[in-house]
Amino acid sequence: MSADDAAVPPQREGRRLRVGVLASQGGFAAHARMLGELGAEALEVRTPGAFADLDALVIPGGESTTISKAIERDGLAPAIRAHVAGGRPILGTCAGMIVCDREHLGLIDATVRRNAFGRQIASFETDLELAGIGPDSLRAVFIRAPWIESHGGEVEVLATVDGHPVAIRDGRVLACSFHPELTDDLRVHALLMAIATAAREERAGAEAAAGEDRGGQG
Ligand code: GLN
Repeated sequence: MSADDAAVPPQREGRRLRVGVLASQGGFAAHARMLGELGAEALEVRTPGAFADLDALVIPGGESTTISKAIERDGLAPAIRAHVAGGRPILGTCAGMIVCDREHLGLIDATVRRNAFGRQIASFETDLELAGIGPDSLRAVFIRAPWIESHGGEVEVLATVDGHPVAIRDGRVLACSFHPELTDDLRVHALLMAIATAAREERAGAEAAAGEDRGGQG
C-alpha cells in the first residue's frame, strides 16, 4: 500500500470493484485483462449465480445472435435485468450493444442497426471524441459494427461517426459500437468503473441511512 492509498477516505476503502464479463461467446478475455489492469477483480460470468455481488458487467462483442441464444439458454436475462434494476452499470460493446437494445434485453432506450457500416467498410479504425473520458481522442476499432439507429430523449450520445451515434449512455448503461478492449486505451473501462464506484457508494450510503433509521426506531 502506498502513502497515497493510506490517505483515501474511509468510504472509498474496502474491497476492489468486482466486474463480471459475460463469457458466453466473444472477446471476453481482453476485457477481463483491461479491468484487471485498472485494479478490478474481473470475473467470467456464465450462470445466474455468478451475478451475486457484481459491481458492474461487461457484455462483449462477438456475434449478437449467438450471445442472445446463450443468454436465453443459460437463463441469464432475469439476472442481467436485476443487475441494472439494482443500479449497477453495464458496458455493452459491439454485439454487446446490440444485445442491450430495445429489441433484445431492453436495457437501453435505443434501437441498434447491425452491420450498419456495410460490407465495403466492414472494419475500420478512427479517432473519436468521446464525452466523459477527457479531451484526448480515442482510437476506436470497428469490426462489422452496429450503430444506434434511433434513441429516446433520455439517452446521452457520447460519440458519433458520420452523424450516427456509436457510443451512448442511458442511465448506468454504456454501449459502444467499437471494441475498446482492442487498444491499450483504458478510458472506456475506467468510465464504467467510475460509474460502478459511484453506484457502490450510493448503495453503501442508503444502507447506512437504513441502519440509522432502524437504530432510531429501536
Ligand atoms: N456484426 C456482429 C453482430 O451483428 C457484431 C460484431 C462484433 O461484435 N464485432 O452480431
